[in-house]
Amino acid sequence: MKYYSTNNHNYHVSFREAILEGLAKDKGLFLPERINNLSHDFINDLHKYSFQEISFNIAEKFVEDEIPNLELSDIINKAISFEAPIKTLSESLAILELFHGPTLAFKDFGARFLARTMEYFLKNESKEVTILVATSGDTGSAVANGFLNIEGINVVVLFPSGKVSKIQEKQITTLGNNITAIEVKGTFDDCQKLVKTAFVDKELKPHINLSSANSINIGRLIPQTFYYFESFKQLKNIAVKKEIIYSVPSGNLGNLTAGLFAKKMGLPISKFIAANNKNDVFANYINKGMYQPQASEESLSNAMDVGAPSNFARIVDLYDNNHKEIAEVIFSKSYSDSETVEKIKEIQERFEYIIDPHGAVGCLALEDYQASQKSESIGVVLETAHPAKFDDVFNRFLNFEPSIPERLAASLDKESKTIKLSNSYKEFKEYLLS
Ligand SMILES: *Cc1c(COP(=O)(O)O)cnc(C)c1O
Repeated sequence: MKYYSTNNHNYHVSFREAILEGLAKDKGLFLPERINNLSHDFINDLHKYSFQEISFNIAEKFVEDEIPNLELSDIINKAISFEAPIKTLSESLAILELFHGPTLAFKDFGARFLARTMEYFLKNESKEVTILVATSGDTGSAVANGFLNIEGINVVVLFPSGKVSKIQEKQITTLGNNITAIEVKGTFDDCQKLVKTAFVDKELKPHINLSSANSINIGRLIPQTFYYFESFKQLKNIAVKKEIIYSVPSGNLGNLTAGLFAKKMGLPISKFIAANNKNDVFANYINKGMYQPQASEESLSNAMDVGAPSNFARIVDLYDNNHKEIAEVIFSKSYSDSETVEKIKEIQERFEYIIDPHGAVGCLALEDYQASQKSESIGVVLETAHPAKFDDVFNRFLNFEPSIPERLAASLDKESKTIKLSNSYKEFKEYLLS
């Protein structure tokens, strides 16, 4: 399959290059030349297939002949090794739990698939690759975990000292092996600057092959399409004949873009909801037709604190920049922190279900949309992370707390190992060359 750049539709690369380059040389984002349909029969018969079989059939449409079937299915079986279960709370509300992976957030799907795919493409090249990631939390832990023990690839994660949650720090610093955690005395922006400087440093080139596992990599989006189909399969038993809506807690719009892929492949989703916290750039675009990036503001659903969503370019490209059409497919609204906390409380009281702050924003937007519609529908809210990752929110604002899953508790007991560096590039460079 060929991929083009959103900045230039005549610039084409192979799937392999799209994966290994991440961002196009002209700084555009890669999109597949065609979004292939899955057959009607396959979609009607989803219940006959396992999550892994569904995933394979979707992946194959994006990869085509660049990875042989046997190897592709091996990649899927290793990457998609946990479930994405639907929990039905009422006739009109279902929760799609995307936190059953090792770092308890949906980013595990993308990071694990990308890691295995890169491993496949690098395996015959007998060169070592070093992936640099700067993180303020979730991305670093998912990438580090996804690439753990992957042959030929080392990962260096830079995080700002004292500025990621205790749980996130443990998830990054206790892995060992091919994963190195660097604690930078500085801010997230300092970490990002060190990484960006290293990428353009010509003196490093002869000594070290640097790569990135950035969230704009198409290899992280493709596997997010899998769970739209998988959840649709589970819903079919419950919701025959009702319209099905997906509510997506949105930041960089990766999850939403993957949902749009699923719809274009033939999955009959009648509406998407892009739920924003106070960072309402996308909601403003949908409702007012103007796209105005802003500085991000901190909120309780911090993985959605994004002022210039990176996948925006993909969404407008998928719909030929037709705002009217985009606004017909996607409803969007923004919510405050206090509304978020109230929603968490209400869901716990009504359903005895503990939702995390991101999922709560998704529930708020779904409820508003459903209230505005005459026809009955079933809404699926993507629960993007496990609530236990946000214990500070529960401690500060709520009088109940989620229990900590075992796989998280296990990493809390392990010993942390970090390399402490200042925010000076000279020091970081010496480390990379050592
Ligand atoms: C990354 C993340 C989001 C935002 O997803 P996008 O694909 O960037 O829109 C939402 N919730 C959680 C918990 C996340 O980690």
